[in-house]
Amino acid sequence: MDGSPLFTPALSTNAVAPLPVTIAPGDGIGPEIMQATLAILNAAGAKLAPEMVTIGERSYLSGEPTGIGPEAWESLARTKLLLKGPITTPQGGGYKSVNVTLRKTLGLFANIRPCRALHPVVPTRHPDLDVIIIRENEEDLYAGIEHQQTDEVVQCLKLISRPGTERIVRYGFEVAAAAGIDKVSCFTKDNIMKLTDGLFHRVFDEVSALYPGIKTEHLIVDIGAARLADQPGRFKLVILPNLYGDILSDVAAEIAGSVGLAGSANIGSSGALFEAIHGSAPDIAGQDIANPSGLLCAAIMMLAQNGQAETAAQIEAAWLRTLEEGIHTLDIFAADRSKACVGTQGFADAVIARLGQQPHQFDLRLSHPLPAVPPPPARLPKADKQMDGVDLFVHWSGGTPDDLANAVQRAATASPGLSLSVITNRGVKVWPNGRDETFCTDHWRCRFMAAPGVSVSPALVPGLMYALAKAGLPAIKMEMLYRFDGTAGYTAAQGQ
Ligand code: NAD
Repeated sequence: MDGSPLFTPALSTNAVAPLPVTIAPGDGIGPEIMQATLAILNAAGAKLAPEMVTIGERSYLSGEPTGIGPEAWESLARTKLLLKGPITTPQGGGYKSVNVTLRKTLGLFANIRPCRALHPVVPTRHPDLDVIIIRENEEDLYAGIEHQQTDEVVQCLKLISRPGTERIVRYGFEVAAAAGIDKVSCFTKDNIMKLTDGLFHRVFDEVSALYPGIKTEHLIVDIGAARLADQPGRFKLVILPNLYGDILSDVAAEIAGSVGLAGSANIGSSGALFEAIHGSAPDIAGQDIANPSGLLCAAIMMLAQNGQAETAAQIEAAWLRTLEEGIHTLDIFAADRSKACVGTQGFADAVIARLGQQPHQFDLRLSHPLPAVPPPPARLPKADKQMDGVDLFVHWSGGTPDDLANAVQRAATASPGLSLSVITNRGVKVWPNGRDETFCTDHWRCRFMAAPGVSVSPALVPGLMYALAKAGLPAIKMEMLYRFDGTAGYTAAQGQ
């Protein structure tokens, strides 16, 4: 990049106020594709008041473990809007993901990734692919709460909340309604994770009742993923919990033809982040061969979302026209159908030259504003919460499950009110009546229950833990077993 400013604010000829936006070029190919994108925005007359910041590798290496320094945070506090190039996360431990930090800190609960095949301009085995992936962005295993509990076992907590789920599902349906989409799908694994994925599925069903004109379907995520990869034309909009959404949004973008072509929006109630879906591509950085389309698509969505839909439409039209005319970067160039192989800046010049022209084969999608974020969901009234028992997890490797049961029962005699009902290892019942073939680690769950129909106080648990610890059975974790309005808020042990 030369030393000239990346963006020259357009002279205002109408009433649109320049949009304050924080711009982080990022790492690897980031600065090249950002320069190309901003050149197109500039030529199209986008009204921006850009604040350039450094986020990513340089910030990490200067000692910011999140990759985001105080100046960048100050700018984000002012603009609440970020156009971001891809970031290289340095190898080695201790560095936090910029993206996860930004999403959580700015409350960007929804990730929206439109994926569309541009066949035959960009060949794909799935010419009918045209799907929007809506990914929950803040919860699930991405809460990042992990612990090593024994020599042999580590855990990651999967957190799904009702308000978090209601928010993403509601927003997904709003996106569908705004785009005239008549079918919405949801994938979960609630046949196994009955409480967490079960809640996501239940909320999906509840919210869908508010949109009677939209057909809905729920698929178990494994078959859903297989069908999305094999017959993507079946799907129009898919709403997913965080981890499944992370994986399947990349699958959808890849089978559309190129990861270099897709952008995504991360939306919150008081901020938004727009970026390409690909990484910093260090293998091609600095060579002027990267495709700037992903970041450009993200910028088109950003303009549309922020009162500049006309400019966004003009850019989207010129971008599609450029692709249709066979002006391609190396990643999508094919001698038999492309007309010219251009570099990053050359592609930007070609788009600029076509501003004002319309595409012939594809309609405009990205330049329609996304709907407003619905108000936060109403909180549920407090349930009647009764305690049935407790799961105490112990680190132990002294013998068989029967040996452990005997030791636990001996120790627990001093703690009346709760009695040992089952022991599991990795979720499988091993006592009473376990099977000799079950492989056991050093991580045991001992479930203590009150007598049927009796509820107990959490105050009983410290005494029980103390008694176990004194007997050489230190608890490494406990989970209280509650009943909410009469319904058990815990699952039975497998095999119980
Ligand atoms: P990548 O997306 O950077 O690259 C994968 C392949 O796609 C490479 O061959 C690359 O050359 C190609 N490619 C990517 N974007 C392209 C474009 N615009 N034009 C042409 N070709 C393109 O994935 P990676 O190699 O796994 O990751 C590289 C770095 O990017 C890592 O440090 C990773 O952590 C980071 N990353 C960042 C983000 C982000 O900031 N949002 C997302 C993914 C990966």
